Amino acid sequence: MSSSTRHPANDERCPCGSGDTFGSCCGPVLTGKRRAATAEALMRSRYTAFTTQDLEHALASWHPDTRPDRADLARSLADTRWLRLDVRGTTGGGPFDDEGTVEFVAIARTEQGRRELHEISHFTRVDGSWLYVRGDLAATRH
Ligand SMILES: [Zn+2]
Repeated sequence: MSSSTRHPANDERCPCGSGDTFGSCCGPVLTGKRRAATAEALMRSRYTAFTTQDLEHALASWHPDTRPDRADLARSLADTRWLRLDVRGTTGGGPFDDEGTVEFVAIARTEQGRRELHEISHFTRVDGSWLYVRGDLAATRH
């Protein structure tokens, strides 16, 4: 599956929209060189994994209790082209926390058209590593 991964070059803009380069943002987290220090950093790395078809990181960053079936997730990655991420806010999720949430809006294009996902993601830290637990859909504010 890693053969279909499309990571940008280290000096390219990170897909998560942080404004940083891939090599100093999500890159080291995706390649396993560095653990995400915060829940938001893990969330951003997951978004980047979804945009770059990095199934391995999408699975590895998902809590085993709620992790989807590999084939289902692979299909979801292939069917959706993520265009933009906008992190709206966080609670907890810092270096001294074990739980955290990240609220975000992500824009995607699917075969059915434009899709806007507004979610509050829940994260927990297990053995020092942040993991995605679940997402609650949030009401979109304009
Ligand atoms: Zn990033």
